[in-house]
Amino acid sequence: MVKVMAVNAGSSSLKFQLFDMPSEKVICNGLVERIGMDMGNFTIKHDGEKKSVEQPFPDHGVAVDALLKALISEGIVKELSEINAVGHRIVQGGAYFADSAIVDDDVEAKVEELCDLAPLHNPAHLIGYRAFKKALPGVEHVFTFDTAFHQTMDEASYMYALPYEYYTKYKVRKYGAHGTSHKYVSEQAIKLLGNPETSKVIVCHLGNGASLTAVKNGKCYDTSMGLTPLAGVMMGTRCGTVDPSIMPYLCEKTGMTPQEMLNVYNKQSGMLGVSGISSDARDIEAAYNEGNERAILTSNLYARTVAKYIGAYFVELGGCDAIAFTAGLGENSSYIRDLCIKECSEALGVKLDAEKNAIRSDQAREISAADSAIKVYVIPTNEEVMIARDTVRLLGL
Ligand code: AMP
Repeated sequence: MVKVMAVNAGSSSLKFQLFDMPSEKVICNGLVERIGMDMGNFTIKHDGEKKSVEQPFPDHGVAVDALLKALISEGIVKELSEINAVGHRIVQGGAYFADSAIVDDDVEAKVEELCDLAPLHNPAHLIGYRAFKKALPGVEHVFTFDTAFHQTMDEASYMYALPYEYYTKYKVRKYGAHGTSHKYVSEQAIKLLGNPETSKVIVCHLGNGASLTAVKNGKCYDTSMGLTPLAGVMMGTRCGTVDPSIMPYLCEKTGMTPQEMLNVYNKQSGMLGVSGISSDARDIEAAYNEGNERAILTSNLYARTVAKYIGAYFVELGGCDAIAFTAGLGENSSYIRDLCIKECSEALGVKLDAEKNAIRSDQAREISAADSAIKVYVIPTNEEVMIARDTVRLLGL
């Protein structure tokens, strides 16, 4: 029996699943949430039992230590050496990686080099990787890159309207992110559609980071994130795409450097920046329900930016068979799904079934009304199983 740990260290969360391979049975799984916030939450599920601990997790290193300690204390493994391999989700693989890779010094150095392009993610992935490497000496690691699925975009989708030499000299183009999730969710959506020969699917991955992807016949056609995961829709703390002239204007007004302003774009914008309340959709929803004006604005702005991409991708794909919601907000936040679809419904004839939308479940499900012109699904993402599969494939386990 081979045990593979699949790790997904996000900007404010660390998800993990320990797989028995090749059966793909999940031995245990869990989540550390709200990393870097005042109070965090650690949940681990094993043998049908769920345990949660509330404590602060100042950084990802502390979260990994807590997880490994829990594996022993819960009796999930006797020794950490029972874990044969670890696969890690990596947001940015740049032009270096068209497939997952076995980690060596060169691969690690390239991921480090790419931190500039994914400042909230690649550093977190590397902290997670190094903590696991230290705790599990002798175990091999595989990196699975979010950019790989987006390699099928054509030039008209991935180029920027900048001088062409910035592309040839500096490789400035759209790489996208969340590709492993978009691949998994679009595959599931196509299955739910009954495996038609041709398909047009829009995947809305709405988590703390958020991106939309237009998927034509199972292949990525366009995606909302860009050179970095800062582009596209507004997110928990990221602004998404804004007028590029705002940067020099605000640097002049505030006296901040471009790097400091970029930090504001990445860490103090999005839901947090607009609401002044929190980056977490649960806090925004609570304030929205109390009639807080900034929470209402935040929710409406969020829904409208998502709807704009849905509209754009509807045009690019030449129609749409299904819209699939996934990730933290996409899977759990019925009010955000409702607001997003309402923004699209007059133009696209897409409608939710309010009762189905309100159901809480961890199963893939349809939530559209019977007379909706487009099917709408909630599909829990499973980047971890994709990572475990690649880890086993590359290491020949
Ligand atoms: P992710 O990056 O996919 O882990 O998503 C994390 C985000 O999902 C959190 O910051 C929350 O905003 C959101 N989220 C998680 N659970 C819920 C929930 N039950 N209701 C609303 N939003 C949620």
